[in-house]
Amino acid sequence: MANIIKCRGFVLNTIPFKESSLIASVLTNKSGKVKLLAKGIRRPKSKMCGAMEPFSFDEIIFYKREFKDIYTLSDAVVIDSFPEIRGDPFRVSGAMVLCEFYDKTLPMEESNTQVFSEFFRFLSSMRKADSHTVRALVISYLIRAFPYSGVMPHLDDCVQCHGPVGGGNGKIDFSISAGGTVCRKHHDDSVLLLDRQTVEALKSMLQRRHFQLSNSTLAEMEGFVADYIYVHMNNIRLHSLKHFK
Ligand SMILES: [Zn+2]
Repeated sequence: MANIIKCRGFVLNTIPFKESSLIASVLTNKSGKVKLLAKGIRRPKSKMCGAMEPFSFDEIIFYKREFKDIYTLSDAVVIDSFPEIRGDPFRVSGAMVLCEFYDKTLPMEESNTQVFSEFFRFLSSMRKADSHTVRALVISYLIRAFPYSGVMPHLDDCVQCHGPVGGGNGKIDFSISAGGTVCRKHHDDSVLLLDRQTVEALKSMLQRRHFQLSNSTLAEMEGFVADYIYVHMNNIRLHSLKHFK
């Protein structure tokens, strides 16, 4: 039996399939992340043409069948294409970072309204952000998304022994491989020296508290975020993060 699902979703990624179709990864409000086959959508006369662009916010209908992991898309209508983002290549490459992260790390078909609302908040902030704050916005939403993928950096004390961290120089050792801050005894080869402000800003991001990001704090975060994701999330490399310059 096929189940007809009508819901809302954000397109995260698409790959061409056969001559005129696409397989899309879509973050929905009802079914979590799903894979949808959009048949014939690359034909010029397709009525769904334009609805499968990355980060497009759509009303969609698809058929859910048991024993299948790719469902058939039957209709898609754009609710919001976020033209303010789409018209600016820098914002587009920033939005692609979150699309790729969610596409590669979110579990399939686990409904999570928090993730859905968070992605909407991210795109709404991106559309009106001053251009000099776009970078900070992308990096902070990327770090805020870590817990949705089951990963949370440990920042309160030493991740190994729960002893105190940080010396008198205002710097704290952060171990990429151990996944958090460490004391002198648990120092390892992957340790980076972070400013205390950077660690405090990370905590605020993860706890959804307000924070201010200075350029140096942002630079420190950018310095480890790709490696942290690689080590703790199944060796994932975010290509879009490399291109987000
Ligand atoms: Zn320790």
